[in-house]
Amino acid sequence: QDIVMTSSLFTTLTAPNGRSFDQPLGLFINNEWRAAKSGDGITVVSPINEEEIVKVHAAGAQDVDDAVKAAREAFKGPWSKIGPTERGELLRKLADLAEEQTETLATIDTWNNGKRLSSAKGDVGELTSVLRFYAGFADKLYGQVISTTESKFAYTSREPIGVCGQIIPWNYPLGMAAWKMAPALAAGNTIVLKPAEQTPLSILVFATLIDRSGFPPGVINIVNGFGRTAGASLAGHVGVDKVAFTGSTNTGREIMKLAATNLKEITLETGGKSPLIVFEDADLDNASKWAHYGIMANQGQICTATSRILVHETIYTKFVDLFIGRVKQTSKVGNPFEAGTFQGPQVSKAQYERVLSYIEKGKQEGATLRFGGKPHQGVDGKGFFVEPTVFTDVKDNMKIYREEVFGPLVAISSFTTEEEAIERANDTFYGLGAAIFTENITRAHQFAKKIEAGSESPLSHRRVNIDYGFSVVWINSSNDSDFRIPFGGVKQSGIGRELGEAGITAYTTVKAVHVNLGTRL
Ligand code: NAD
Repeated sequence: QDIVMTSSLFTTLTAPNGRSFDQPLGLFINNEWRAAKSGDGITVVSPINEEEIVKVHAAGAQDVDDAVKAAREAFKGPWSKIGPTERGELLRKLADLAEEQTETLATIDTWNNGKRLSSAKGDVGELTSVLRFYAGFADKLYGQVISTTESKFAYTSREPIGVCGQIIPWNYPLGMAAWKMAPALAAGNTIVLKPAEQTPLSILVFATLIDRSGFPPGVINIVNGFGRTAGASLAGHVGVDKVAFTGSTNTGREIMKLAATNLKEITLETGGKSPLIVFEDADLDNASKWAHYGIMANQGQICTATSRILVHETIYTKFVDLFIGRVKQTSKVGNPFEAGTFQGPQVSKAQYERVLSYIEKGKQEGATLRFGGKPHQGVDGKGFFVEPTVFTDVKDNMKIYREEVFGPLVAISSFTTEEEAIERANDTFYGLGAAIFTENITRAHQFAKKIEAGSESPLSHRRVNIDYGFSVVWINSSNDSDFRIPFGGVKQSGIGRELGEAGITAYTTVKAVHVNLGTRL
């Protein structure tokens, strides 16, 4: 909601766990805190008790333009004079300072996002690991020397792209920022980052460390704001050379259109409906544990959440019983500040209502509701809490099987043959993650290949091209991601890769220099 802001740029907040901290409220442009020229603001709400935490400034088009100009000046000026090893050192310094703030940053994300405190601390660990990983890459971006004829050779170098606009979602406020900022900076780009309007607080505290780490003004700019205003201005801005986005497939489509104005480079990481397949020879205890983690972790708000589980018919009943046992035993819903809580609230009222609406659709379409299926009373009856929900006997044409819910709701179904499992797993316009459970090493790798290569499915003709399936495959685990390993989607799950080496090359462009050694022409 848009509100008019006062000019105040900082306040002191005390979180429900008693931790107090200084909270910046403004936009971070050119290493300065500024009030939004738009005069707009964002009311930040805690999903734990639905109460307002604070209001922060919301950037408009003019503010985004200022941030892009600052990033351009830095790119042309001071940042271009800083060598790659020094860039790495700055990133390491930023990681060290962030690590010192682990308790505060994690407290903010638990309060603002609703994730349990141990997960929020894990997110700060992800942030510092990713910053350090790419710090190491900064001075190891090599080109090639290419011989062609006797009188000619060429060399290539990897150059930064320029000013990068980065638009991130609310499910991992700090992790998603790190995935985008660290490789861009290591490769020598400057950035304007727009956090999600639901979770703008932790990144502002993180921004106080940028100047202290020694980054020159304008290298990292953080502009909170709404998608339709600040986000769209950034994605369409002609002064931006690359836009990187994580969020919904529909918004990704919009961003692609906006990026077309000046043919920006793009990286999109969008939605998913990832399958998890359990074969008859699987270690069922292991499978049920990972299957639980794969859909219920982070309140089900993960783009690679394995939200469709396909189980071989001979072990279906046994697996479902084990899985539900695991949900009962592990998925304690409640106050995310309390030790022992597994699942906090959904991030916002909109997401809470979205999950509940899918529960209704599942019931109406005739799936069997085996567990959960209601709002959870949460903390004193307040907050956006939903019970972990398990539907079985789900059919492939049901909405809960086909559409991304982004919540703690799983659709379980059985299969008879391996071919059928591959065909049904691939029958989706998404193509992000897939997990398989088997003790047969040959079958595991064959399956990983087939699910990548896809198969010609009679079902697919009704809906989508499924020539290729999924780009992240887990064998005997699920959502076991790692910053050293590339991550990203095919089909309508995205374009390009983040993390690993692929994540930094995505922030470079290759320059080729032709050298004439002879007297040709
Ligand atoms: P969204 O895609 O609308 O928002 C993600 C980011 O994009 C936010 O920063 C938002 O401000 C920005 N944005 C929105 N519209 C924009 C526009 N027109 N131009 C530029 N930027 C814009 O996602 P949402 O509305 O917060 O969530 C809706 C659904 O998206 C979820 O239910 C889930 O299915 C999916 N989602 C996926 C991920 C993921 O990690 N892949 C993350 C969050 C949400």
